[in-house]
Amino acid sequence: MKTRVRFAPSPTGPLHMGGVRTALYNYLYAKRRGGDFILRIEDTDSHRFVPGAEQYIIESLRWCGIVPDEGVGIGGPHAPYRQSERREIYRQYAEQLVASGHAYYAFDSAESLEQARAQAEASGQTFIYNSATRSAMCNSLTLSAEETERLLRETDTWTIRFKMPLGRTVQMDDLIRGHVEINSDTLDDKVLWKRADSLPTYHLANIVDDHLMEITEVIRGEEWLPSLPLHYLLYEAFGWQDSMPRFAHLPLLLKPVGNGKLSKRDGDKMGFPVFPLRWVSPTGEVSRGYREDGYFPEAFVNMLALLGWNPGTEQELFSMEELVEAFSLEKVSKSGAKFNPEKAKWFNREYLRGKDDAELAEAFLPLLEAQGVRADKAFVVKVVALIKERATFVSDFWDIAWYLFKAPTEYDPKDAAKFWKDENPARVQELAAFVRDFDGAFERDVIGPALEEYIRSREWPMGKVMNALRLALTGSGSGLGIADVAALIGKEEFLARVDRCCKYA
Ligand code: GLU
Repeated sequence: MKTRVRFAPSPTGPLHMGGVRTALYNYLYAKRRGGDFILRIEDTDSHRFVPGAEQYIIESLRWCGIVPDEGVGIGGPHAPYRQSERREIYRQYAEQLVASGHAYYAFDSAESLEQARAQAEASGQTFIYNSATRSAMCNSLTLSAEETERLLRETDTWTIRFKMPLGRTVQMDDLIRGHVEINSDTLDDKVLWKRADSLPTYHLANIVDDHLMEITEVIRGEEWLPSLPLHYLLYEAFGWQDSMPRFAHLPLLLKPVGNGKLSKRDGDKMGFPVFPLRWVSPTGEVSRGYREDGYFPEAFVNMLALLGWNPGTEQELFSMEELVEAFSLEKVSKSGAKFNPEKAKWFNREYLRGKDDAELAEAFLPLLEAQGVRADKAFVVKVVALIKERATFVSDFWDIAWYLFKAPTEYDPKDAAKFWKDENPARVQELAAFVRDFDGAFERDVIGPALEEYIRSREWPMGKVMNALRLALTGSGSGLGIADVAALIGKEEFLARVDRCCKYA
């Protein structure tokens, strides 16, 4: 049987990085087996629908290189893949369960449900709509057939509820957690379908679609584990046990410090994104994204892959192809994975170093332009080659190397006080004179040793004089090597900068 898995997000807001990881694991699992990865949008909860969220999900997956074989925006043999466009499908399945005695119509008003809850609470209990209480409620199990018919015809707020069996031990198997058991008496008669909006609830739509779309494995977040017994019982009620998918519930992504699920608040507090892309909510609230923060999608994906899965080796850097090759659910851990924002940066640094200089230069050019600098591409390539080891993001380039593109007009006062004193200004001027007359190639490995040689021959303190010279050339006492700076800015500029600094001081 062909492996078919799906990512089935609800468009209720921006996709959390935990959701991206779920999509990624599904994708890797499918590709490892030559199977299909499907994107299904579960938008049957109209109260939680957020405009723009679906587009955001699609764009996030695209940015990460997680490409669905079928789904919303792509199509496929089981289209449509947006549940709101499949609404006609679900009612017949809900009715089928009523007919087979696995579900029933419920006519309880919001007020009577509230009352039942309050009553239970008054005696220190919580109300569960199930075998213990359903006989006292208003539903097709307690009403006559005629009355049921009448209410179905004349009212429009009824629902179809699952008739949770009494005293069953539901035996479940999870590919990550192993065997799980639960007594059905702790579970409630979940609503499967609502007349009010003619829409199914998550549980019904999810099971029906997984069945119709021939899903072989359901890989999803741990928060869905409590729904698993109901899902098992739904497959049983439909008589679909034989083609029931296997389930794998992924561990949570945890906060960097302390306990609990990684939340947007943690990101805001500690200064890292929890969303793949920047998101502006319908009310205008902005959440930062990995993309806009300057992460490479490959770095983000690589980092996410290792949050909860390990290859069983020391290898940390994986391309998507390598991930596909190495991924298995057996190596997904049962316990939550602590997110480490520093490690995320480490991944980006590694990817940045591995990138081609020309590609990085291309990415740097618009930032230079924004600084009012028009630079020659070949020059930018040279600069990037020099500085990429020091950067985490392309956006760091400017701070590291701005003085290779324009002369300093100010000098760091602390460094100036430290280095631009005693005989140093005169020495720097003497060095400039030496440079003026220097007729060797103005290249890093020629001018650098020549300057050092000159300083040594004059028996000046090397470090102090070099720092004074750096101050003159760059405005600061620390930074890139003098030989590199000199070679990149060139002889004319070297002399002009020393001259300007001497006049300034
Ligand atoms: N729509 C559910 C969600 O938003 C899907 C859960 C599942 O994969 O079954 O996560």
